[in-house]
Amino acid sequence: MVVMKFGGTSVKDPDAIRRLARIVAREQGISGVPVVVVSAMSGITDQLLDAVAAVERGDAEGAARRVTAMRDRHRAAAEALLTAGERRDLVIDALERQWRETASLLHAMSVLREVSPRSRDAVLAMGELASSRLVAAALTDLDLPAQCVDARCVLVTNADHGHAQPDPAPTAARLHEHVLPLAKAGIVAVLGGFIGATADGVTTTLGRGGSDYSASLFGAGLHASAIQIWTDVDGMLTADPRVVHGARPLPSLSFAEASELAYFGAKVLHPSTIAPAVAGGIPVRILNSHRPEVAGTTITANPPLPEAPLTGLACKRDITVIDIRSTMMLAAYGFMRRVFEVFERHRTSVDVITTSEVSVSITIEDRRALDAIVRDLSAFAEVGVESEMALLCAVGERLRLEPGLAARVLGALDEFPLRMVSQAGARRNLTVVLPQAQLQAAMARVHERFCLEVQPVAEVVA
Ligand code: ASP
Ligand code: MG
Repeated sequence: MVVMKFGGTSVKDPDAIRRLARIVAREQGISGVPVVVVSAMSGITDQLLDAVAAVERGDAEGAARRVTAMRDRHRAAAEALLTAGERRDLVIDALERQWRETASLLHAMSVLREVSPRSRDAVLAMGELASSRLVAAALTDLDLPAQCVDARCVLVTNADHGHAQPDPAPTAARLHEHVLPLAKAGIVAVLGGFIGATADGVTTTLGRGGSDYSASLFGAGLHASAIQIWTDVDGMLTADPRVVHGARPLPSLSFAEASELAYFGAKVLHPSTIAPAVAGGIPVRILNSHRPEVAGTTITANPPLPEAPLTGLACKRDITVIDIRSTMMLAAYGFMRRVFEVFERHRTSVDVITTSEVSVSITIEDRRALDAIVRDLSAFAEVGVESEMALLCAVGERLRLEPGLAARVLGALDEFPLRMVSQAGARRNLTVVLPQAQLQAAMARVHERFCLEVQPVAEVVA
């Protein structure tokens, strides 16, 4: 069985939903009845958040206006997609009821002028509840029997509203109870991604972009043969095409490589998405719903090594480097703990760390607490700050296997002032920090020499 996840742009309007239906029908012909996971229609989660923000400002009318707009959009889509008749009326009624419920929820919140994480999740869930209902009806109307399953009855999470942690064991049990029998009966189960509920049934959400995570969890729980992530790009590329001219699609990469690339900015997939699939050994494919014939990118535990020395490059701009120097570090213990406590206290996550005997350099992206961090570090060390830096991250399994490769990559960057260089224990990535103004040129240089398919050795050495 295959789990197929369609993102917001792949369900954004009647045309997109018809495309989705053709893709599902094709898959059904190949591998049997799939399970479908959908995001909210594109823009809906943002609009729901806007409605909540309006309530927080005391603008009840603004919130109500947004609900009306969302209701109209779903109604128009249902009318365009579904053949007139009893089934269409039922679906439209159900959607109307749902948006009325959303309006009363927001109304109650505005009377109390109180928005808790719990009530915010109850509102946010409406996007995926509506899209899954609509998509299931559209599939059925197009002769693909389907049924929407309320994902809150399936995905069990803790009560950490806004970024709830799923509990895989009860989730798998509920998939076997509510989803598997449908597939066995030839019915496509359609679930909303991103949403779940606590064991007591209180609605939760997994965090923005969480539908991929849901799909991956469902795939693992159902022991799916593959998880397909349908989006609006041709898969992952060797580099961000806005930064590197000539970036090419990646047919395959390893889970570890995909996590490294995702962590440092390749936005197609969130790294945590990958965890349940990795654990279950299930391949994840990224595909383009506008061009289903394109092979896309397949992520597996152990793909064949690519021809090119490096699999891909990721980068991050607007990085700040913090240098911390102290002779107290020399042969001492506990110094690092003091350093990292400062970052923890100011809730700032660090990306790259390099150390010497008397200094530590750390990069951060979020500068909001920078002044306070510098003040606290200055209590026990000398502190320097450099902004407008960028991070370039070269990723590839070959870095681990070919001892000279990292040196060659650094050699190619000999004209660039590298501020930090880091290669982690797993040695699948080599990360350098350099001035932002030089990022584009450095990316182009490494990409041209190490990411293109055919690599005459002479050219690499030259
Ligand atoms: N609809 C949610 C969001 O926009 C979840 C998702 O699309 O993955 O973040
Ligand atoms: Mg997404």
